[in-house]
Amino acid sequence: MYNPFSWLKTLGRLALYFAVVCALGQYFDLMMEAITVGALLLLLIHYWNLYRLNRWLWHSKKMTPPKTRGVWEHIYEGIYYLQRRNRNKRKELGNLVKRFREGAEALPDAAVVVDANACIAWCNRLARIELGLSWPDDAGRRVDNLIRHPQFIEFFHQGKFNHPIEITSPTNIEKILEYRIMPYGDKHLLLVARDVTRVTQLEEMRKDFVANVSHELRTPLTVLNGYLEMFNADEADYPKAFMHKAFAEMTAQSRRMQNLIEQLLILSRIEASAERVYEKIVDVPQMLSAIDSEAAALNREKSHGIRFQVDKNLQVFGIETELRSAFSNLIFNAIHYTPAKGNILVGWHLVDKRAEFFVQDDGEGIAEKHLARLTERFYRVDKARSRKTGGSGLGLAIVKHVLTHHNSKLEIASEVGKGSRFSFRFSNELTVVKSDATA
Ligand code: ADP
Repeated sequence: MYNPFSWLKTLGRLALYFAVVCALGQYFDLMMEAITVGALLLLLIHYWNLYRLNRWLWHSKKMTPPKTRGVWEHIYEGIYYLQRRNRNKRKELGNLVKRFREGAEALPDAAVVVDANACIAWCNRLARIELGLSWPDDAGRRVDNLIRHPQFIEFFHQGKFNHPIEITSPTNIEKILEYRIMPYGDKHLLLVARDVTRVTQLEEMRKDFVANVSHELRTPLTVLNGYLEMFNADEADYPKAFMHKAFAEMTAQSRRMQNLIEQLLILSRIEASAERVYEKIVDVPQMLSAIDSEAAALNREKSHGIRFQVDKNLQVFGIETELRSAFSNLIFNAIHYTPAKGNILVGWHLVDKRAEFFVQDDGEGIAEKHLARLTERFYRVDKARSRKTGGSGLGLAIVKHVLTHHNSKLEIASEVGKGSRFSFRFSNELTVVKSDATA
């Protein structure tokens, strides 16, 4: 139990002690000797307590002080109280640092604290992964010795940190990192590196896309402009053959532009679509019979043998306009890219409880090196030939987007000289066999 310190009590106790010493001195008639022995005894007791205090502070592992009485009890308790308060403060501070580190570890970016001598004071886990730092081995090493990219070193030494820089990651050259440096405190720096690969790629794609669209539109417009410049309004007498050629060419080119714009609109509609795939059932057999008639009209020139093998009971959950676009793109491509009098087989059937669509032709086929890139926008195997067919280079990109929206994927198998097979399957959950649908 803690007793508050009282000077009065302490002095009273001292007075009582000397009163007893004096009484003993008087009784034995040795007053001076008694006072000297009494004072020495008191000194001894204090030295003894100083010795115990020293032993407790420096050599004892115990937190609690040794038991004693009087003034020393207060001193021990005071020190014990200060120690406990310090310990709690240290604990609080430790917890704060721990929470701060946990917060910094949870950052989605790589973070490195650099001291006034450009040495690493601390880094988080992502910094170890993205920047290739190792912890604690790299603690105290100069950051510009560890991140060796010349652009980073220049940026770091220039000391102008208003703008970030973008450079490849030291651990993976495919990745682009954005480095930001924030000075704080006493010449300390906080270096933050963010993965901006995707943003950079999107920006590249956007630039390519604009360049491609402009290029695609410029060619037909040049043809139209050429003819328009040739025509003179005052001179109505042009040879008939010339007029026929001019009109045929202008019509073909304006159709090409129209087709391109329509395809672009379809693509952007699909990309922006928020429609849910699971809501409506699409009657694929009915849709295929409509496409069959369109294909027959398109096939007049080439006279391919086109066969449709359709399971009449097979339907899917999906978005009708999108699926129609995907199915017809694959069928019309087969008609366009198969030399005249070829054979095309269109199939819609059940495989492993999943609806599968395929278009197979015995055309020229596609070389292996093109297969992976076919679904890229504006990618064509043979640009000149594709343009002649009126192709925009967007057909398979549309198919890819539609299928992604329907959780499916386009499979392309092709062999040069033998033909191609384009196919995709819908998941079990999207597949509907008609008896289920009518139930
Ligand atoms: P396009 O509008 O030019 O037809 P697509 O994206 O539909 O563009 O097709 C991309 C390219 O894939 C075409 O230019 C063509 O070279 C090739 N291709 C597509 N379908 C076939 C096929 N059935 N047989 C051979 N090549 C094909």
